[in-house]
Amino acid sequence: MQDHIQLTAVAPFGNELALSWSDSLEQFLSLEKLRRACPCAVCNGEPDVMGRGDAPARNYKQGSFELKSYEFVGGYALLLRWADGHATGIYSYDLLRKL
Ligand SMILES: [Zn+2]
Repeated sequence: MQDHIQLTAVAPFGNELALSWSDSLEQFLSLEKLRRACPCAVCNGEPDVMGRGDAPARNYKQGSFELKSYEFVGGYALLLRWADGHATGIYSYDLLRKL
């Protein structure tokens, strides 16, 4: 069960975000990958799995893959704020572990 695994530390590291977990796993996720996996409703209006092109909300611009700040949310998720102003993505620990 992953429900009890906690995120113990977060550290931006170049173009990646380093995550340390309570089960001693260390994860390095590229910021671009994280942004593209943004789980918020805006970004998921219409998934583009069939290669039909990006949904309007997914028009990335300068700063889209640049992390501005982050915040722990209720012990189960991480909120990421991006340099282009996007800050509605709450990444559950479960999601992060799957990236
Ligand atoms: Zn989003």
